[in-house]
Amino acid sequence: MTIFQRIIAREIPADILHEDDRCLVFRDINPQAPVHLLIVPKPLIPRVGEANPEDEALLGHLLLTAGKVATELGINSTTEGFRLVINNGRSGGEAVPHLHIHLLAGRPLAWPPG
Ligand code: AMP
Repeated sequence: MTIFQRIIAREIPADILHEDDRCLVFRDINPQAPVHLLIVPKPLIPRVGEANPEDEALLGHLLLTAGKVATELGINSTTEGFRLVINNGRSGGEAVPHLHIHLLAGRPLAWPPG
């Protein structure tokens, strides 16, 4: 069981901002920006590179949820922007083998990323 499955099952606590039948959104425990959320699908997909065609609607739902939560937080504008990140594999920075989208905001975010 991944740590995110345990959060979804309420076995370990998290600061949850949104839940629906397909995903959970909660604050990252080690925030890299003033706003740092994780958007996590309830079904276990280890990483985006292992998603399947049948996951298409779920993957779209995760992006739409990111925009919705950003709107609710007042950061969904061209000035108050945000960044979405998916780390895939070890050199991609993946630590938790349960697909998740990072939503980062609240400070200027440099490009290219590190
Ligand atoms: P990644 O490196 O893309 O796999 O990201 C994993 C993220 O999960 C990191 O940013 C961690 O800080 C975060 N994380 C790990 N454990 C927890 C937890 N119990 N609650 C919230 N975030 C967590």
